[in-house]
Amino acid sequence: MTWQEDAGRDLVRSAGDRLALLARGEGSYVWDAEDKRYLDFLAGIAVNSLGHAHPVFVEAVSRQAATLAHVSNYFATEPQLALAATLKRLAGTGDAGRVYFGNSGAEANEAAFKLARLHGGAARPRILALKDAFHGRTMGTLALTGKPYMQEPFLPMTPGVEFVDSTVAALEEAMDDRVAALFVEPVKGEAGVIELPEGYLRAAREITARHGALLIIDEIQTGAGRTGAWFAFQHEGITPDAITVAKGIGGGFPIGALITYGAASELFYPGTHGSTFGGNPLGSAVASAVLGEIERGDLVANAAQRGEQLRRAVHGIDSALIAGCRGRGLLLGIALTHPVAKAVVAAAQEHGLIVNAPNDETIRLVPALTIGDMEVDEFVELFTAAVRTVEDALLLEAPGQDAASLGEPEGARA
Ligand SMILES: *Cc1c(COP(=O)(O)O)cnc(C)c1O
Repeated sequence: MTWQEDAGRDLVRSAGDRLALLARGEGSYVWDAEDKRYLDFLAGIAVNSLGHAHPVFVEAVSRQAATLAHVSNYFATEPQLALAATLKRLAGTGDAGRVYFGNSGAEANEAAFKLARLHGGAARPRILALKDAFHGRTMGTLALTGKPYMQEPFLPMTPGVEFVDSTVAALEEAMDDRVAALFVEPVKGEAGVIELPEGYLRAAREITARHGALLIIDEIQTGAGRTGAWFAFQHEGITPDAITVAKGIGGGFPIGALITYGAASELFYPGTHGSTFGGNPLGSAVASAVLGEIERGDLVANAAQRGEQLRRAVHGIDSALIAGCRGRGLLLGIALTHPVAKAVVAAAQEHGLIVNAPNDETIRLVPALTIGDMEVDEFVELFTAAVRTVEDALLLEAPGQDAASLGEPEGARA
């Protein structure tokens, strides 16, 4: 039996075929079961902030597991209180902030959805979300996710959510006093690393405030330093009513949280929400250790600098397949001139590089926040090789059209 056969028989078919059987990791590298090494520029989809098997992560898991792992939410624990205080400080809530803990991004957004309903009540049945944004796969968060093809097999959705274009004009047009909340993904990661228009968040803050609607920002992919600020909304200098976090804050341990600001912090009351595992001391201690290491190592600044370095490096790759580079910090999308992103991902894997394709024309880079010159240089080498492989395959498949089909004469390649 191969592992592919086992996976094909035993794992739910809700996702495509698994790409490899990974066995271990260290820093920005993972090894498969045959001991082939890969440079990991996906990092568990922006999750492994410190890379793999970081000593701080390992120590926190081991120490807390050996001390107190889980107690239920009838009790508080010091790791939970410490993490809540840290998240409030990093998110800039001031005293009037609160933290709800779940175990994933979807759970954080479910909590945010319920927060919006508590805020709106019967008087505000409308919730606005952005077309093409991703907020999760549970029935509640799927209702918030503006991708019709994802919702379609699971209709009917939880009612009340309307999708708007990501422009200030569309928001002005859709907004009224019956809107409970606007959900915003500040950089649309799953859609292909699509940034909002300049000034959008500031305008959204002003418009939601004017109509008494909550501004809820999904920082699940952008948070924990990924974009070169602790949270992406901080680039815009606004204060939201709530943010949701997950992915990178646990560094690989499943944890998610809703962080509220000001009056939004007083909406939940006893009996309105909960999670058995949420905020347990094990997850809390690990997330605190991960955030502590991001702070100690100045990895937020590193994300900003390495992001710029990577962007320059990508622009420096002479390939007719590369159209440009979007995104911020270490959340980057390489735009391709042809819909061959899946082929580039496969070629990269052959060459020992893990990246992913959120759509057919984009390669997403979300490496560990710890990367340095070595990883950037190796990425450029491996990614260039992958792109060359795909260019060659395209030329083979289109004899007669040759390099012209790539938009540039072959000689233009360095
Ligand atoms: C990944 C993601 C989610 C969902 O998180 P899960 O942990 O997979 O439930 C929600 N929103 C955004 C922006 C994400 O990137």
